[in-house]
Amino acid sequence: MLFDQIGLTPPLLKALKQEGYTTPTPIQHQAIPHALAGKDILGLAQTGTGKTAAFALPILQKLSAQALGNGYRYTRALILTPTRELALQISESFASYGRYTGLKHEVIFGGVPQTPQTLALRDGVDVLIATPGRLLDLMNQGYVYLDYLETFVLDEADRMLDMGFIHDVKRIIKILPAQRQTMLFSATMPPQITQLASSLLHQPVRVEV
Ligand code: AMP
Repeated sequence: MLFDQIGLTPPLLKALKQEGYTTPTPIQHQAIPHALAGKDILGLAQTGTGKTAAFALPILQKLSAQALGNGYRYTRALILTPTRELALQISESFASYGRYTGLKHEVIFGGVPQTPQTLALRDGVDVLIATPGRLLDLMNQGYVYLDYLETFVLDEADRMLDMGFIHDVKRIIKILPAQRQTMLFSATMPPQITQLASSLLHQPVRVEV
């Protein structure tokens, strides 16, 4: 199956073509149609499988289908990932796949001054990519509003656990609107992640590569 048979719209297909992608990877092939249909996803996949596009493409498509009325951007998708490197890679993917959608994304992570990040957030973003600690900091200071969130992605859930971020992650989840689409990706499923997944996901489609 090719990308143009998977239900994606022309702005995304054009960007994928420029990237030189023709064929969805197995995780993309399995996840994208369900994610486009609004289903929750439990993805067992490692980095390198193409999992970023598996969640980024449906998010971009769904957000660009809903035009914004008053011009202000609300954070409608949140991607939590454990490290700065992953956050930057995901941000590059959104920049690349979303270049014809007109959507705006921002990436925030710790270890750098927060002012450039808060300035970027002030004008509103459609998609926020974040590491848990800095996101909580900025939420506590009132810089991040997630009341209009539609899609939440928890990336590399098992690494969140290994790195001791799981409590921060749970604190963030508590604040998210209950009515939303959730996608959880993890390379492994230790008991704590299985438990988290069952509390977080509503009748998820399980995809595994
Ligand atoms: P990820 O697992 O999301 O980190 O992606 C791994 C690498 O595969 C990245 O460098 C992507 O740019 C690339 N990639 C993702 N999907 C495809 C695809 N369908 N065809 C070719 N390359 C891809």
